[in-house]
Amino acid sequence: ATPTALLVGTGRGSQLGILIRGPQVLEQTQRIDTVVLDKTGTVTTGRMTLSSLTLADGQAEDELLHLAASAELGSEHPIARAIVDSARTRGFDVDSPESFIAHSGQGVQAIIDGRLVVAGRGSWLETEWGMNHTPAVTEAVALGERQGKTAIVVAWDGAARGVLVVGDTVKDTARDAIDRFQQLGLTPVLLTGDNAGAAKAVAAQIGVTDVRAGVTPQGKLDTIRQLQEDGHVVAMVGDGVNDAAALAAADLGIAMGSGTDAAITAADITVMSGDLIAVGDAIRLSRRTLRTIK
Ligand code: ADP
Ligand code: MG
Repeated sequence: ATPTALLVGTGRGSQLGILIRGPQVLEQTQRIDTVVLDKTGTVTTGRMTLSSLTLADGQAEDELLHLAASAELGSEHPIARAIVDSARTRGFDVDSPESFIAHSGQGVQAIIDGRLVVAGRGSWLETEWGMNHTPAVTEAVALGERQGKTAIVVAWDGAARGVLVVGDTVKDTARDAIDRFQQLGLTPVLLTGDNAGAAKAVAAQIGVTDVRAGVTPQGKLDTIRQLQEDGHVVAMVGDGVNDAAALAAADLGIAMGSGTDAAITAADITVMSGDLIAVGDAIRLSRRTLRTIK
């Protein structure tokens, strides 16, 4: 393989909006047999919207959305953008929190108006924050998840105050992209931190049968390593901070151009458009470029 020819490959890639970290990356595309796909922002648009809001007894919508949106203000997650936008659209104040910590794949905690506010996965609030949700909260979460959506529990002063259900849509070209992966001999796997209801709804729309839901960022990394131990050569496609470790561990890490800096830094290839068809193009182009040189 001559370096010049390899650079032609990477040059053609950049015309297509595919940034390849270096010529050595092309070698990795040859033996790939599995493509692991993150859900939110990778298979889906990542433009989430608020579809329902449930208040615990005695709570007010303005206070819930003010505190939830202020807590989410510093988060890069699509869920955060949906909550901030919906609060602003309704005319509620969104303020910078006094302090803020993002827990990748779980939720956020922040101090707002002197109160500790926690928003995230319902089970995380129970196991890590020692809360016991009321039947009404548990039911609102279950209902959202049955609808194929993501339910966020918002809590302060030690108890859940409401549930926000958010959802997004599958990218237009996702189903065709999965078909192309299969034509390239690649087995698709959907891997997400989101709940099983949301994961299965997306999987059904794109025709993927291997679905792994409720997986933490560490679990995403472990999944990649397990597939590799089982003899697979694995490409991982993702966009979030929660995907960074898995992207770095995969034989080929592919980030969406719309993704976070952490994902792009960890990846071998960045697909600027975020279109999954271009991910297939990137794999085909790399394979073809390498064949030309050999
Ligand atoms: P995905 O794999 O779909 O990108 P993540 O690993 O980022 O999902 O998140 C998993 C789950 O953690 C989300 O479905 C949500 O319940 C919760 N979560 C993550 N980030 C946030 C956030 N900023 N606010 C609230 N909940 C969050
Ligand atoms: Mg994502």
